[in-house]
Amino acid sequence: MIFDCAIIGAGPAGLNAALVLGRARRSVALFDNGTNRNRVTLESHGYLTRDGIKPAEFKRIGFQELERYPSVQLVAGTINQVMKQQRHDRFHIVTSGDKEYIAERIILATGVQEEHPSVPEIENYYGISLHSCPYCDGWERRDQALIVIAEKEKSVLHLTKLVFNWSKDLLVATNGKTLSAFAIAELRKRDIEVVMEPIKKLHGKEGYLQKVEFASGLIRDREGGFISPKFYRSNPFLEQLGCELKDNEAVEMDALGRTSQKNIYVAGEYGQLSPSALILSAADGFNAAVAVNTDITEERF
Ligand SMILES: Cc1cc2nc3c(=O)[nH]c(=O)nc-3n(C[C@H](O)[C@H](O)[C@H](O)COP(=O)(O)OP(=O)(O)OC[C@H]3O[C@@H](n4cnc5c(N)ncnc54)[C@H](O)[C@@H]3O)c2cc1C
Repeated sequence: MIFDCAIIGAGPAGLNAALVLGRARRSVALFDNGTNRNRVTLESHGYLTRDGIKPAEFKRIGFQELERYPSVQLVAGTINQVMKQQRHDRFHIVTSGDKEYIAERIILATGVQEEHPSVPEIENYYGISLHSCPYCDGWERRDQALIVIAEKEKSVLHLTKLVFNWSKDLLVATNGKTLSAFAIAELRKRDIEVVMEPIKKLHGKEGYLQKVEFASGLIRDREGGFISPKFYRSNPFLEQLGCELKDNEAVEMDALGRTSQKNIYVAGEYGQLSPSALILSAADGFNAAVAVNTDITEERF
């Protein structure tokens, strides 16, 4: 079978694209391997009608809604390779289990992954009491004793200013990096303690932070906090398929996610290479599906 569209990634972007294309009676293969970066969080916030939902439940409802549309096929598995078949102008998609699928168009919606500041066992706290997005988790941490862990001065100032809206009781930790005198003064003016030593250990129970221990032995009580990760794409599809990037590594695309390559579309964080939100990624998926359906309609009418 030749699918009208293959969608790689069933986060909010891919799920919403599949929903819109299924409703437009297009045949869709939707691939997912369960590596969405928000899977570690206890609850997701800020998506109207779904505020507080668990990521797994969000996905379950997404898949359940797609069951109404028989032209959408869900495939669990990792896509390792996408190739363009030049002769037929189609895409050849191979799963990790060596199953092969053919599609006329493709939406890349595989999201991004994160690299965290190098602090021992930080992963045990991430998503429970340490977070990266104040819009997502600031409300739950309001007025608590918080730590901001960021290593670059620009990120330190940006994240601290934001988090200051939710709590004034802040400690900034650069994990061994040095800040300028200007940055230190800006923070101290607001009674924010700045510690530029490496973090030796996080102390807490079941992901709930209690204390932070620094290299010199300094210990501070903290209930939670925010960290500044680096974001990267773990999938090489853009290079494999020759899609152009901008200087900031976002994909060169139009407002609906059409890339520089014919019949290749992007949606969600994979396109931007920057953190977004569930509702914004879902909207990107809607847009990409509209682009796919419009292009099919123009071609076949
Ligand atoms: C800890 C944490 C908490 C967050 N909390 C919130 C919140 O409260 N509210 C909010 O709005 N946003 C939140 N976010 C951000 C939100 O998760 C993202 O903005 C959103 O999930 C991005 O959607 P996406 O569809 O682009 O990518 P993702 O949700 O990352 O989905 C990408 C999908 O692609 C699949 N995939 C990747 N590679 C492959 C492959 N090779 N083969 C097959 N499948 C593949 C993955 O399994 C994944 O399901 C949070 C993020 C994190 C990390």
